This record gives sequence, C-alpha cells and structure tokens, in this order.
Amino acid sequence: MSKLRFDVVQDAFKKKAVPVDLPSGKISDFFGELVFTRDKMRRYLDAETFRKIIDCVDNGAPLDRPTADKVAEGMKTWAMEHGVTHITHWFQPLTEGTAEKHDSLMEYDGQGGMIESFDGRSLVQQEPDASSFPNGGIRATFEARGYTAWDPTSPVFIQHDTLCIPTVFIAYTGEALDYKTPLKKAIKALSDAAVPLCRLFDENVKRVYSYLGWEQEYFLVDEDLYAARQDLMLTGRTLMGHASSKNQQLDDHYFGAIPSRVAAFMRDIEIAGYKLGIPLKTRHNEVAPNQFELAPIYGEANLANDQNQIMMNVMNSIARQHGFVVLFHEKPFESINGSGKHNNWSIGTDTGTMLLAPGKDPDSNLRFVAFFVNVLAAVQKYNSVLKASIASATNAHRLGANEAPPAIISAFLGKTMTDVLHKLLTVPSDTPIVIAGKKGHSLGLVEIPELFIDNTDRNRTSPFAFTGNRFEFRAVGASANCAGALTTLCAATADQLLDFKAAVDREMAAGKARNIAIMDTLKPIIASILDVVCFEGNGYSEAWRKEAGRRGLDTETNVPRMFKAFTEQKAADMFTRLGVFSRKELEARNEVRWETYIKKVQIEARVMGRMATNHILPAALEYQTRLLKNIDLLRNTFPENWESLSATQTGLVKRISTLVSDITVKVEAMVEARKKANKIEDDYERALSYHDIAESLTAIRKSIDRLEEITDNDLWPLPKYREILFIN
Ligand code: ADP
Ligand code: MG
Repeated sequence: MSKLRFDVVQDAFKKKAVPVDLPSGKISDFFGELVFTRDKMRRYLDAETFRKIIDCVDNGAPLDRPTADKVAEGMKTWAMEHGVTHITHWFQPLTEGTAEKHDSLMEYDGQGGMIESFDGRSLVQQEPDASSFPNGGIRATFEARGYTAWDPTSPVFIQHDTLCIPTVFIAYTGEALDYKTPLKKAIKALSDAAVPLCRLFDENVKRVYSYLGWEQEYFLVDEDLYAARQDLMLTGRTLMGHASSKNQQLDDHYFGAIPSRVAAFMRDIEIAGYKLGIPLKTRHNEVAPNQFELAPIYGEANLANDQNQIMMNVMNSIARQHGFVVLFHEKPFESINGSGKHNNWSIGTDTGTMLLAPGKDPDSNLRFVAFFVNVLAAVQKYNSVLKASIASATNAHRLGANEAPPAIISAFLGKTMTDVLHKLLTVPSDTPIVIAGKKGHSLGLVEIPELFIDNTDRNRTSPFAFTGNRFEFRAVGASANCAGALTTLCAATADQLLDFKAAVDREMAAGKARNIAIMDTLKPIIASILDVVCFEGNGYSEAWRKEAGRRGLDTETNVPRMFKAFTEQKAADMFTRLGVFSRKELEARNEVRWETYIKKVQIEARVMGRMATNHILPAALEYQTRLLKNIDLLRNTFPENWESLSATQTGLVKRISTLVSDITVKVEAMVEARKKANKIEDDYERALSYHDIAESLTAIRKSIDRLEEITDNDLWPLPKYREILFIN
C-alpha cells in the first residue's frame, strides 16, 4: 500500500475518543450562558433602557442613539466579565457560511492610556470593506462600501474572546447583500398578509410568527484521511472512489449505537450549543455510514436560522479538536445517501395559535384548513422558484438522484388530510370540520381524527411533506443557508394569502357569511391543488416525472436553468409586490448564483484533472509496468506456453491501457471545454457550459473507479471509500 495511505489509515483507526470537559451542573444551569438574553438585559441595563430595547426587539420601535449607547455599555460590562476583548458584526453574505471582522475594544483614553470602549454607534452600524463579497454587480468597484446593521431580534453572543453582533449586510445603495435581510422582509410580509385572515377569527391577533426547526445532516471523516484527498479538501466531496463492498445496504447505521469518538464530538458541540442558547434536542446516526444528524427544538425562523449558522461554525471548529472534519456537502460520496437539511416550518399567531395544526372547534379547524390549503396553493403557484431556492451546484448531486427529494417540488399530505380535502369538495360550504374521537363517525361531518400529529404517515420521497402541525421542506441542502428556501416559502405564502383574503372579502361584501365565503373561495383552490401539486406516490419513479410534467409542475433538472425562475415575471412580480426583493436584487442574486455555480464546477474540474494526471494515471501505469515485467519473466522462463500462462496479465495490461487513454482523452476534452466556456461573456450562458462540464466529470470518474477496481491495492494512492467511511 502506498506508504502515506497505509500509515494514515492505521493511525486513523487507532484513534480514541477525546475526553470532553463536561460543565458541572445541569444543562439548564449553563444554557444561554454566552448570550445576552432578556434576563441579562434586565440585569445589565437600567429599567428605562431595558423597556426601550424590548420595545425595539418585540415591536420594531426605533432605537435612539443615547439608548443604543447604554445598551452597548451594558453589553460591554457583561462581555468583559466573560473575558471578551473584541467585537464583531456577524453577518451572512452570499457565500457559504458567515463573515466576521474583529475589532478590539481598545481605544486611546485621551490621557495617554488605553481603555475598553464600545458605544451605540459601533453596536448599531459598521462599514466593513465589502468589496470582496459576492454582490452580482450591485456595487460598482468605485463604491466598495456596504454596511452592516444590528438585528436586535437576534441576541448578541460570545464566541471565544469576541462579542458577536448579528447584523444584516446592505449596499450603500440599499440593496441587500446577504441572506438575513430578505428573510426578515419575507417573514414580515407573511405576517402582514396572514394577520387580516387571522383577524376574521380572532380580533386580538397582531402578528404572525414563522417557525423553523432544522435537521442538520452531516458526515464526519477522520482529518488525516481527509487531508490525504485533495478532492475532499478542495471541493468538499470525493470526485472519485469505487463503492465499498459494504455500505448502507444492511441499514445497520441508521439509529445505531453512536461510535465513541463521534459521541464525544456530539457531546462537545451540544455543550457549546447550549451555552449559546441553542436548544439542541436530537442526535442520531443517519442512513449512510459515518453520517449523522443534529436537530434543535424549533424556534422563531430568523433566530433559528442564525443558530443553524452558528452551529455549523461550532461543528467545524470542534470537529478538529476530535480529529474529525465535518462534511456539509450534499453528496460527499457516490453510491450512498447524501445530506439534506429538512426545514420544518410552521406559522403561529402572537396569541399562541399554531396555524398549521387542527384546533379544538370547527372554527379553528376552518382556519387551519384555510392556511393549510393556501400554503399548498403557494407551493403550486411558485413551484419553479421554490425549487430554484434550494438549487445549487452541490445540492444538484442529491436532487433527482433517486434519493431524498426528487427534482420536482410536490407536496405530500398523508391520507387523513387528503381525505379531508376530498370530503370538503362534496359537502355544503357551512359543514363544520370537527375533531373525531375514537368512537365511530358522525355521518355528513368533515372529520379530522384525534391524535392527528402522531398519526401522520411518512413519505420519505416527498420534498414537501405535511407532518401534522408543520410542513417539512426536505429539499434544502445540508450546506445551504436555510434563509434561501425560507425567504421564498414565506414570500410565496404571503402572496397567496393576500389574494385569498381579497377574494374572501369580495364574497363577504356580496353578503356571504364568513365561513361560507372562506369555504367557497377555498373549494376551487382545493380542487386544483389535489389535481396538481399534491402527490402521495413514489416521488422517485420515472412515471411520476412524466406525470408531474403533464400536471405542469417544474421538472427542470439543470441547475443554472432553474435559477431563471427568480427573474421570470411571475416570481419577480411576487417578490417586488411584497418588497422582499427588488428587480435589481433578483438579477444581482442570479448573477451571484451563476458565478458561484461556475466557480464550484471549475474547481472540481481542475481538481479532477490534477488527480487524474498526478495520482491516478501514475499508479495505473506503475501497476501496468509490474504486469509487463511479469509477462516478460514468464516468456523467458516458459518459452513454450508463456502466452497462456500470462493471459490474465495481458488482459489487465490492455484494460489499463484502454482506461488510461480513455481518461486522458476525456480530461483533455474537459480542459478544452473549460477554455471555451471561460470565453463566454454572459454569466448564464457560461453557467450552462459549466453544467455540461460538470456532467463530463461523471464520465471521467467512471473510468477512474474501474481502474481502482483492478489496480494493485498497494499502489492506489487515495484512501478508499471503505477506509474513509468506516473509521470513526
Ligand atoms: P424527524 O422525525 O422528521 O426526523 P426530528 O425530531 O428529527 O423529526 O425533527 C423534527 C424537527 O421539527 C425538530 O426540530 C422539531 O423541533 C421541529 N418541529 C416540531 N414541531 C414544529 C413546528 N410546529 N414548527 C416547526 N418545527 C417544528
Ligand atoms: Mg430527524
């Protein structure tokens, strides 16, 4: 075995779990220790400042400069008690992950000394030199400045020696350059659209919240094995690698006992998460070997998304202390499952009503059905743009690959709700929707069974599934910022609700009672969604792909083409009507999407070329030389029948030659295709060419994997799947 690979595999296998420093006391004792929570605000701010900042957080009241100064002072005192020396505005630019630029608290005190200082101005706004962040041409190079502005609804937190202030990131010309700004706008648009409908049932509703419960899937790979593969290091996935004889076919990893090194890692990230106020709840082995999942208790969507971003950072850094690297890539390994990030999403009022769950009486059930149906109508109407919102160069390997979500966004309701909707179409519009007990059915009524949430069936092949009190948007990629998907989902729903409420108002103005007006408006929508977006069958089947096309759902599989949905008239009208994105922002973001796509494929293509040329071909040729020497020796020793004696070797020599030249030809063609693509001016057209290049990598890989199958194990330079996936 190649010396490097042999040593690395042995060392990795021998590693033991790293002991974890368990904090003393219960989790609830240290939960939120590193967050400037309300509790701490109360302790570190005077009563008037506290009142004002809470008004700002809860009701969006403006924050005056003197109050901001006092808040900053309180934060500083608290932070310095935790050893903080620096502050940073923490934001989510259109790259993967988050950005931070640290400034120390040090200032001259004007008396020849130094002092720690932090005022309202540096809390509220900063101007990081933002010229190197993706912006899609919004900021011409002569105007390199953007600014970050505090998002007071997401509390500041401490990481190591730094006070992190969650912020939005905006160009000087006003356009959003990040994920958070549009998410906040979409959440607000949804609230504004949903409140009037809620008020038909309850006058007291002032606000509707969006909730997110993310389920983060990830792989762990030993860091030494990772370092031995430049594809993993530079692209986050393996560009080659023959399937291991055993992978996930025995289903023995899913929910299996957590390996001790991994368990230590999990405990460590949980402790860090709890201190940061993140309510982590669930951890388990996933389906693929070395694949795991982490999920918190759901929370307000903007905050929950920040917490997901924080956790991804925490996981990356703590993994290294355990000798692991975390892979968030959607498809790090062929032939086994990839990783998603299910977005469990629901909405609820400030009066405590969950709008996507049945209630106790016919009125609340009607409200539930109204919201439920309108969400589905939004998914149908904005089908293409919802898919575009989860599309990326990396998620492309997972979508439509006969696993997790297919590249068609249909909705799964489960039998109960499907039956309820069908029934609603056949009964008079004033029929009450009741919760049925275990005892029998009352004829004529529309019934939702008791114990509904626990009863919802599961359909793993659906990208958008109803699970009793929420929808699970399963198509989101593991590496994605959830805000991309949520912004579109919230905006689409808001748009649909506005139209729906207007239609109900017209019916009521014409003299219909509320319930009848609502149900009369709902009925044609129900008929339509049952015909189109709702699908209970196998989402992976070829038959469904054809059927979905007939139904008018989006079946596009080409990622650069999917992005076009954002700037098509329908979506652009929706986003601009709600004030979530301007046209300029939509166009700029698509430029960023295409550029990112191109760069990702470009990096993969380069790595593929280098690995093929510098690692794979030399190993194969070396083996071929050994075979030829063997044939030579046989010929000298057995001049009579050497040919029959060396038939196997000759066959191998020929196969190697065929594969080597096949790889060489394909790599050369790929390099030529890149040269040609790079000359294309238009981002979209260039991205389309890179899409073809991405496909060509699969063909190169096939030949490399065949070489791996026949080449002497000792000579193979890269850690193999069986070595990477079963060491933990
Ligand atoms: P699954 O069985 O789908 O894997 P998990 O327990 O792993 O479920 O994750 C479910 C996620 O859904 C959790 O984050 C949970 O808090 C969240 N969740 C539960 N109810 C709601 C809700 N009403 N709105 C949003 N998220 C929810
Ligand atoms: Mg789960």
